[in-house]
Amino acid sequence: MYHGPPGPPPHDSNEPVDDPRTEQRSRMVRRPEITRQRPDLAPSWDEVGASFPVRITRSFWRRLDPADPDDPLALQVMPDPRELETDPGDVPDPVGDAATSPLPWVVHKHPDRVLLLVTKRCHLYCRYCFRRNHAPSEAMDPTPGEWAAALRYAAASGASEIILSGGDPLILPDRALLATLDALEGVPVRRIHTRAPITFPERVTEALVSELAARRPVWVVVHCNHPRELSDEVDEALARLIDGGVPVLNQAVLLRGVNDDVEVLAALSEALVRRRVFPYYLHLTDRAEGNAHLRIGAERGLALYRALRGRVSGIALPRFVVDRPDGSGKVDVETLVGSSVGEPGIQADMGEV
Ligand code: SF4
Repeated sequence: MYHGPPGPPPHDSNEPVDDPRTEQRSRMVRRPEITRQRPDLAPSWDEVGASFPVRITRSFWRRLDPADPDDPLALQVMPDPRELETDPGDVPDPVGDAATSPLPWVVHKHPDRVLLLVTKRCHLYCRYCFRRNHAPSEAMDPTPGEWAAALRYAAASGASEIILSGGDPLILPDRALLATLDALEGVPVRRIHTRAPITFPERVTEALVSELAARRPVWVVVHCNHPRELSDEVDEALARLIDGGVPVLNQAVLLRGVNDDVEVLAALSEALVRRRVFPYYLHLTDRAEGNAHLRIGAERGLALYRALRGRVSGIALPRFVVDRPDGSGKVDVETLVGSSVGEPGIQADMGEV
């Protein structure tokens, strides 16, 4: 686990005064404002925050009910004392990143795709995040040398897709983000996995969109779990991307108390399709230490998914997947549950089946 506060990333040590992160910092909700609404969180705040930072954007804050501990948006972002509990199902490296990392900040699970972890920073920290566990000594950003090596590896890999992930790649200033894309110019498809259009929609400026569109095909994969996350500001950010020529997909995570309800899942999928966003994946929550209170078992998840399949059209149906801790990548939960009879190893991969 790591401890804040973070310093500036090495990508831009000559950070200009108009750097968007300066603005980002002023658009975060401060601790007293949160604990005024939820005094029950104050006693454990320091300990929870030391295990995983607390950061909530004002934009996201406006969409949640801060006084309601069961609010599906608040559950995703409020620092919960249950994060300090360990669970027998926790996995230290839930998606097998370490086993498939040939060098720092690079994950290479499949021959045709390389994942670059641009940073560990995010505009908002989701309490269920599967990359929430880092050693205290770990850096938040690559050193310039590490980053140059990561880019060289990705460019020489022969991969047909490079995925920029993290952390959130849109925490970088445009200049650093675009330089990364340009360094990978020879790769046929570049993807950016980001929750910023949902959590910090003002980050998606016309200028950024036109730069991304000029480098097409650049795909953007966003992360929205509940239809109430789709505010007017988010709609505008998504429309800027799509109208600008940048295709957008969504990944959602199935979370207890947030969206473990077929009507909520259907409403999310249909709302995304109406906004021209394809609901690409629904993930069974990866079993990171500290997120057990938000996880549901694979069998219940599959029952929900089957109900969703009977409820929405084909273009509104995501794939229901889980990332296996052995680093072999995503598999359909339906396949695993179907094949898990008598195979405790596979059942163990998914936790409580
Ligand atoms: S935005 Fe993504 S990487 Fe950042 S905390 Fe949320 S789930 Fe984790």
